[in-house]
Amino acid sequence: HAKEVRGRACTYADRRDVNSIERLRLLGDLGRAVERGELFVRYQPQVDPRTGVVAGVEALVRWHHPELGAVGPDRFIPLAEQSGLVAGVTAVVLDRALADAARWRAEGHRPTVSVNLSARLLTDHDLPSMVAEGLRRHRVEASALVLEVTETGIVSDAERAGSVVRRLRALGCGVAVDDYGTGQCSLTYLTDLEVDELKIDRSFVTGMTGDRARAVIVRSTIQMARELGLRVVAEGVADAATLQVLATLGCHLAQGEHVGDPMSADAVTDLLRSRGG
Ligand code: C2E
Ligand code: CA
Ligand code: CA
Ligand code: CA
Repeated sequence: HAKEVRGRACTYADRRDVNSIERLRLLGDLGRAVERGELFVRYQPQVDPRTGVVAGVEALVRWHHPELGAVGPDRFIPLAEQSGLVAGVTAVVLDRALADAARWRAEGHRPTVSVNLSARLLTDHDLPSMVAEGLRRHRVEASALVLEVTETGIVSDAERAGSVVRRLRALGCGVAVDDYGTGQCSLTYLTDLEVDELKIDRSFVTGMTGDRARAVIVRSTIQMARELGLRVVAEGVADAATLQVLATLGCHLAQGEHVGDPMSADAVTDLLRSRGG
C-alpha cells in the first residue's frame, strides 16, 4: 500500500516538472510569437437577448504555436504578465480588433468591440496613448471600443488604475468590469461611476435557471447595473432558457456558448450581415 502511495506522489511530482518545463518553454517562445505573428484573435458575439441583434463582440487572443499547436490564453497570459510581454500581446490584439472594427464599420455595422486588459496593464501609464494611437490609425470612433478590466485589477493599485481608467474614459472608450462578482469586493468604482459596463461572471449565469441563489444574484445585479446606468452583460449563457430569462430581466447583452462560440472575424461579418448590429 505504501508503495502505491509513493508511486502516485511520484507521478504527481513528474507532472509538476513537465508543467514547469512547458511553462519555461512557452515563456521563451512568447516573445518570438508576438513578433512572428503567431498570435491571432477570435471574437465571441454578444447579442441583445430580446432581439438576437449582435451588438458587440469580445476579442479573445489565441496562440498558434508552431510545434505545440493551439495554446489558450489561460496558459500564456499569466506568463505574459510575469514577463512584461503582456503589453506586446495587448498591442497585437488591440490592433487586430480595431482593424476588424473598421472593416465592420465600412460595411455599415456598428458592434462594440471589447478588448481584455490584464491587471498589470492598468498601472501602465503608456496604455491610454497606445489606445488613442490605435483609434486614430484605424479611424475608429472611441465609443466603439470597450476595455475589460477585472475588479482585482482596479482594487490592487486603485490610485494608478483609477488614473489610467479615467484617461481611457476621457478618450471616449467604454470600460467594463469583467468577471463581476468574483473579484475583491470593493464597490467604490461603482459609486464613483468610473465604469460603463458590468459583465456578470459566468459562474453565476450558467445554470441560473435551476439554482435559486444564482438567479437572485443575477437578477439583483442586473437591476443594480440598470439603475446605475451601466450596460450589463451576462457571460456564460449556455442554453435557451437562460437567454429567455435574461431578456425578461432586462439584461442588455448575452454572451456564451448558446449565443456563439469564439469565431473568426469573417464569421462575425457573416453574422452581422444576417443578424444586424
Ligand atoms: P474572459 O475574459 O472571462 O473571457 C471569456 C472566456 O470564457 C473565454 O475563454 C471564452 O471562450 C469562454 N466562454 C465563453 N462562453 C462560455 C460558456 O458559455 N461556457 C464556458 N465554459 N466558457 C465560455 P478564453 O478565450 O479561453 O479566454 C480565457 C481568459 O483569458 C479570458 O477570460 C481572459 O481573462 C483571458 N484573455 C483572453 N484574451 C485576452 C487578451 O487579449 N488579453 C488579456 N489580458 N487576457 C485575455
Ligand atoms: Ca473578458
Ligand atoms: Ca469574463
Ligand atoms: Ca475569466
